[in-house]
Amino acid sequence: MPYTHVGAVTGANKGIGLAVVRQLALQYPKSALHKSDPESQGLLIYLTARDKSRGEAAVRSLYEEDAQLKKAKALKKDGGWADIKFHQLDIRDTMSIRGLAEYLRGEHGEGAVDFVVNNAGIAMDGFDNNVVKTTLECNYYGSLEATQDFLPLLKPNGRLINVSSIVGKLNKYSESIRSRFLNARSVEEVTALMEEFKAAVEAGKEKEQGWPSAAYAVSKAGMTAMTKVIAREEQDRGGKRLINACCPGYVNTDMSKHRGSKTPDQGAQTPVMLAIEEIGGASGEFWQNERVIEW
Ligand code: NDP
Repeated sequence: MPYTHVGAVTGANKGIGLAVVRQLALQYPKSALHKSDPESQGLLIYLTARDKSRGEAAVRSLYEEDAQLKKAKALKKDGGWADIKFHQLDIRDTMSIRGLAEYLRGEHGEGAVDFVVNNAGIAMDGFDNNVVKTTLECNYYGSLEATQDFLPLLKPNGRLINVSSIVGKLNKYSESIRSRFLNARSVEEVTALMEEFKAAVEAGKEKEQGWPSAAYAVSKAGMTAMTKVIAREEQDRGGKRLINACCPGYVNTDMSKHRGSKTPDQGAQTPVMLAIEEIGGASGEFWQNERVIEW
């Protein structure tokens, strides 16, 4: 029996991504998405990870070891349940992104996916050319490519959620750079900012030129800016897909070296809401704690 609803989460073998999958499965039966189709045949969530064995172990951890999910699955009835399946995805690898897009297209058809949560990301220690290049490659360029390749797969009212960060807030930049982030109207303009930052770091002049010495923060500012631009393009085309960026808060995961104050399940709440709940048609916004906040 085909599933009525389909979604995918990137970087979901651990941390916030894994909790997003878990909460999607737990909350789906009572969600607006499920209620939107009383005849629903259920939700299929693709838990994606760059490493096959880590991804498959994560799926097993949810359905074999998670008592709450096991209970929910045992109670499944009337199409109100979610299944979880692994698919490989490395967002730094173009072929891997295309591979998942082709797979979803083949399996479910064009325009058949309800949501994609672009959660995968890295935060490296230190600050040098290599850290900047690698961080931008993953958090900015990888997320951009995933956003562009997965967007056409979404249903006309589908959702795309980019997990960015409040660390990408625009309070550490020169006024001119800040205004270019805020007023960017094309992906090319945002990408030009990322390339300028990379060149400034290579020249050892990022501070002088109005940037913070912080690869992760700039990559997430780029992610938020790119999300807003792509949401606006969708609106300009008359499209109804809702495309938003969010910050999960400071979450207890490997990335925060377990210093975060929120649990992964709490951190998952805003991305899960943006994926499957009623959000009043909001698009192109930046969210935290389930509210739109100023970027
Ligand atoms: P973790 O480091 O715990 O998890 C990151 C996940 O992303 C892992 O599954 C990792 O896979 C995956 N990943 C890394 N690189 C790639 C890649 N190239 N392709 C696919 N997957 C990849 O981090 P969190 O769970 O804390 O973070 C999740 C998201 O939330 C990130 O985007 C982060 O920037 C954001 N965020 C986190 C905050 C926090 O306080 N934790 C605060 C604000 C934002 P693998 O196991 O293979 O490395």
